[in-house]
Amino acid sequence: MTLPFDVAAVRADFPILETEIDGQPLVYLDSGATSQKPRAVLDAEREFLERANSAVHRGAHTLAADATELFEDARITVAEFVGAEPEQLVWTSGATGGLNLIAGSLGYAGRLGEGDEIVVTEAEHHANLIPWQELAARTGARLRHIPVLDDGMLDMHAAADLIGERTKVVAFPHVSNVLGIVNPVAKLVTLARGVGALTVLDACQSAPHLALDLPASGVDLAVFSGHKIYGPYGIGALWGRDEVLEALPPFTTGGSMITTVSLDKAEYLPPPQRFEAGTQPVSQAVALAAAVRWLGGHDLDAARAHEALLETRMREGLRSIDGIRLLGDTDAAERIALQAFAVDGVHAHDVGQFLDSRGVAVRVGHHCAQPLHRRFGLTASVRASAAIHTTEEEIDTFLDAVSGVRGFFGVGASTAGARA
Ligand code: PLP
Repeated sequence: MTLPFDVAAVRADFPILETEIDGQPLVYLDSGATSQKPRAVLDAEREFLERANSAVHRGAHTLAADATELFEDARITVAEFVGAEPEQLVWTSGATGGLNLIAGSLGYAGRLGEGDEIVVTEAEHHANLIPWQELAARTGARLRHIPVLDDGMLDMHAAADLIGERTKVVAFPHVSNVLGIVNPVAKLVTLARGVGALTVLDACQSAPHLALDLPASGVDLAVFSGHKIYGPYGIGALWGRDEVLEALPPFTTGGSMITTVSLDKAEYLPPPQRFEAGTQPVSQAVALAAAVRWLGGHDLDAARAHEALLETRMREGLRSIDGIRLLGDTDAAERIALQAFAVDGVHAHDVGQFLDSRGVAVRVGHHCAQPLHRRFGLTASVRASAAIHTTEEEIDTFLDAVSGVRGFFGVGASTAGARA
């Protein structure tokens, strides 16, 4: 079958895809954990460090001016990528940093107290759960969750009941990092807005795969990580509406975020600098902008069609293998090419090692989503997640390997060879 997308050309941009694992080609299906980096990103970071490296916003010399320009240009590029204005985009260390900033800042602002409620979902990554647990514990607010149904969809009837006049914050993932299901952002925003609650979107898993227009999405605040979107580690972004950012106090304080400081007090810069205390991840910001430009250099509609094809092939292939249980098995939702599953009678870690022996890299464990695994009666699962560079052949290699797992471990009847 011909793909509507030149995946070979895309692959040629990723040096790591030439890697072999025990003499077999690497099949990297762990992009949900961290993406691989195209040469443009590696080059951008190295070139910055080789030619422009300097402290930003504070030097009088030429290098400092160049570095500052590159750093702020990166902000413009990444903001555009999510449909936003640069002053609405705060650099963070990643999604975790962004979510802690939001929860911590709301706490400092005294925006929550006894009787208030924070609503999250049962499908949170711990990064969008624990900061809210901490905030609830410190303020006396109550943390509630929207349950996940058996098919992985959010229980929107429960959501409508839960989100009420006590709700101050509704925080949810755009796409669960376990279920791969795109959540109904507009419906949740409508519920939250109806009661005047702030909405916080964890766009970590959607940013690499879906077109994002954060201002149009209706949410108030959103976060994503650079390293999942073909960019470097140590950088992410927090986006917020002007009036929402304006009303938040800084979470971290120190250098670079002030106008005047006396021994007793400090005046702060407006957003985004108000939230960017200390030395920033400058080369990482420049490289993240390169990642976004690299991604934007492709026909993204075609890329998404390609990934949708991979998603169907992966999920239907897994469904056809005996002894496989999919988490979030529904055709009723939009999805990304990420699928977690359990193999009957074989521990996820053993599955991971077996797949690795075939050159296939997947994630195993609870994927930082213990409550969601508990909801499905599991402590661990295997997760395969594709990227723009994944091929149909790689999905088939993965499926063939999964077909052989139970036979290898002497559990049930092997379906190895059942797939053509
Ligand atoms: N939210 C989701 C849905 C994720 O998948 C992840 C990472 O796996 C995070 C948050 C945390 O991202 P980071 O570790 O880059 O801060």
